[in-house]
Amino acid sequence: MNDSEPTPEGTQCMYCPTGTYREDTTTMTLERDETTLVVKHVPAYVCLHCRDAILGGRDLKGA
Ligand SMILES: [Zn+2]
Repeated sequence: MNDSEPTPEGTQCMYCPTGTYREDTTTMTLERDETTLVVKHVPAYVCLHCRDAILGGRDLKGA
């Protein structure tokens, strides 16, 4: 497997000028038809400043 994929760890936040992402957990809301599912403690990269979260960091492709 390729284990050299880049992660968002330490990269600058996409939404605020001062935050950087760190490996953390977040709360994720999934909506499917009439059901809303809240999943807590989802592994993600979370901005220290505004709490923006990147889910599935290992799947992040270059934008
Ligand atoms: Zn931020």
